[in-house]
Amino acid sequence: MRPLPELTAENTAFWTGGANGKLMIAFCKDCASAIHPPQLICPQCWCEEIESKPVSGTGTVYSYTVNHQPWAPDMKVPFALAVVDVDGAPGVRVSAEVVNADPDSITIGQQMRVSFMNVDDVWFPQWEPVL
Ligand SMILES: [Zn+2]
Repeated sequence: MRPLPELTAENTAFWTGGANGKLMIAFCKDCASAIHPPQLICPQCWCEEIESKPVSGTGTVYSYTVNHQPWAPDMKVPFALAVVDVDGAPGVRVSAEVVNADPDSITIGQQMRVSFMNVDDVWFPQWEPVL
């Protein structure tokens, strides 16, 4: 099975937002920068006032790869990993597996929406094409 991320003060909102169906992104309260991966200090202005807020959960494919290597015995291949520019969070790209799509059908610029896969106390973001 896939390794689970370690939940920390800064990333718990991101990894558990899926429990409420929300893609949670960290924003600086001072300069409003979107910060990903989440951090406790804003890399733009060094402010320590960070808050996680839900974004719409849609985005645009910036890049993607199709993986033919089964990293675990029960892993289905091929599958696609997409790097998606997240709407409402300038500069933030979230890499995640693409579901409900033929891996060979994915294109750069394609519109995606987030869904989540729950494993223990983590909700992995997944991207699926907006039809
Ligand atoms: Zn800032």
